[in-house]
Amino acid sequence: MTTPRSRMPVILPRLIALIVALGGLQQGTILAREGRVRVVASLPNLGAIASAVGGDRIELTTIAVGTQDAHFVDPKPSYMVRLRNADLLLVNGLDLEIGWIPPITQGARNARILQGAQGYIDCSAGIPVVEIPAVLSRAEGDVHPYGNPHYLTDPLNAETVAGTIAEALKRADPASAPLYEDARRAFVRRLHEAVFGKDLVDLAGGAKLAREAAAGTLDAFLDGTAIGGAPLRARLGGWMGRMQAVRGKPIITYHRDYSYFAARFGIAVVDYVEPKPGIQPSAKHLEEIVARLKRGDARVIVTRPFVEHRSTDLLAVRTGAEVLTLPLEVAGAPEATDYFRLFDYVTDRLVEAFSESARAGAR
Ligand SMILES: [Zn+2]
Repeated sequence: MTTPRSRMPVILPRLIALIVALGGLQQGTILAREGRVRVVASLPNLGAIASAVGGDRIELTTIAVGTQDAHFVDPKPSYMVRLRNADLLLVNGLDLEIGWIPPITQGARNARILQGAQGYIDCSAGIPVVEIPAVLSRAEGDVHPYGNPHYLTDPLNAETVAGTIAEALKRADPASAPLYEDARRAFVRRLHEAVFGKDLVDLAGGAKLAREAAAGTLDAFLDGTAIGGAPLRARLGGWMGRMQAVRGKPIITYHRDYSYFAARFGIAVVDYVEPKPGIQPSAKHLEEIVARLKRGDARVIVTRPFVEHRSTDLLAVRTGAEVLTLPLEVAGAPEATDYFRLFDYVTDRLVEAFSESARAGAR
């Protein structure tokens, strides 16, 4: 069957009009009618960073809540409505949201925020990803096929994400570019002070400290540089200063979601309750963990509000291990009201758990 020739003159101009319209959307003429950039963040941590960089220049909507498992959010039709008018969509990427962002972006009928369009912002850009499998596979349900997606558990990665978001906002709203740049710098300054302590940032510079940390040479720098006769390490404060008390300590985590955190703060994740990311433990695997805990390989287990708690309850009863339910995202606990308070809370709870388990061990 052929298309009747007589219809072609009608279809062609419409097609051209559509292509022109889509082209216009691609070119950054995407300011919200009210003059604010409409930003949708898939997850609360991304939303918190976007809010710090965008301030009142953006209209922010966050899809998932902090007590939800980012791997398994239900793709509700109401999320499509939120995406329909969005200028920018911020995603964690590395397939963390594979089960829900593709269906809701497809359903939103908004070409600006489809994967590959200018408004689709993958915040994993520029992040040094760990645990990348040699072979890409979702075999046996592994939910980390492109490597570990939980990179915002290292607060220094938030600097990269803030840069990615600032660049996206500048493209969408060039007139406000200086405001976004100022806000990004203020966020990074605050982040460095929170990670290293204000004293040390004033002495050595946040950018220098972040560079040493990224290169894995921070310890050598802190121990090898003296000011007024004392090594810089004596001035280390912030989250890193607080975590000095538990450096080298072993933990077991439910999910493989603390790799970046552990590397940054020098704690050792020695095992996982899940045998593979996204797979609940078998009875046999739990027995192996019981044996490890009884041997004294670890005394603290970190789990999340949104996973099953039968396994960790059993481990606590059988071995006396301390089980901490810690948030992974902003608002994952009432205390974690923003990205800074999230790490205040998590580092406090960890330090407290180790001092309690040390007391219990001494009895
Ligand atoms: Zn995961």
